[in-house]
Amino acid sequence: MAKFCENCGSPLKAGAQFCDKCGHKAVAEPRRNNEFVMLCPNCQGQVKNPMGLCPYCGRPLSEDPEERTAKGLVLVIVAVMVIAFLAIFIILFALIAIH
Ligand SMILES: [Zn+2]
Ligand SMILES: [Zn+2]
Repeated sequence: MAKFCENCGSPLKAGAQFCDKCGHKAVAEPRRNNEFVMLCPNCQGQVKNPMGLCPYCGRPLSEDPEERTAKGLVLVIVAVMVIAFLAIFIILFALIAIH
């Protein structure tokens, strides 16, 4: 990708420090490496390219384990409620059938 002078807009040569036309200093673009940095939710350490576990404290980074158990708990509660509703319906039907 060609760079252009911020001052006069003329194209800059690759790696040029100054503009050929006006001598304006070419601002070096910050190098963008594909490193993804995130903060550990546990120790607030900066983790580059996280691979699941924090290298500082060893805690999983992708998902909060407490949140995961909370989600699991909600699923269990929903399942229990569905089963309870089914049981109530079956009992009601049984009572109606008896009468
Ligand atoms: Zn220029
Ligand atoms: Zn950590």
